[in-house]
Amino acid sequence: MTNFQDLVIAYRILAEHGIIDAYGHISVRSPTNPERFWMARSIAPELVTEADMMEFGMDSEPIDAKGFNPVIERYIHGEVYKSRPEVMAVVHNHSPSVIPFCCTNTTLQPIFHMSAFIGLGVPNWEIRDAQEDSDMLVRNAYLGESLAKKLDGHPAALMRGHGAVVVGESLAVAVGRSVYLEQNARMQFQAEMLAGDDGEITFMSDKEVAANVVWQEYGRFWNLVRNKMIKKLDAEKLA
Ligand code: MN
Repeated sequence: MTNFQDLVIAYRILAEHGIIDAYGHISVRSPTNPERFWMARSIAPELVTEADMMEFGMDSEPIDAKGFNPVIERYIHGEVYKSRPEVMAVVHNHSPSVIPFCCTNTTLQPIFHMSAFIGLGVPNWEIRDAQEDSDMLVRNAYLGESLAKKLDGHPAALMRGHGAVVVGESLAVAVGRSVYLEQNARMQFQAEMLAGDDGEITFMSDKEVAANVVWQEYGRFWNLVRNKMIKKLDAEKLA
């Protein structure tokens, strides 16, 4: 099987940026079989190694459980891969600055060019529309499908009272979008404080968004954080 190094690196980068803590996960579609995806077993992201990786089918069930506990919310990933053939990586997080935007009427908007993708729309999924009085977790394919439907063709969706799902056509894009979604949420909140009573904030226009998202692959960002993480992981191995 292809090695899992970049997926481990993606877990560690998201943890280092505070996008995922003890919870949260990232998966990647198998490069050799588009009907399968890879994700770590149920373990804190900062502890993930290549040995923790599991392979899942489109039903979000493990191909070979290897005696591991799979992540409960794996259905988020499976249902998104099923409905979005171009998506190669999926992040589920509880990104702290993003949460307030999923339980108020303030809509996330693109405040700077690095998060232009927000201008493509970030819908907010209300789990109560699918199930009343839930424990908020996406515990089955039914809830996963409901979330994937709300996500539709968008780059990300919020999950009311919970977090977000962020997708990309590569690991770099899914990780980059997750990091810049968090930054945008923080900066939008700051701008709202600064704007004060007049409340005026100039967000990116639809045309600026369209001109930006065509090139936004987060390649330089990924190259930087990946290289730093490889050095850190090497140092851990030597210690
Ligand atoms: Mn969750």
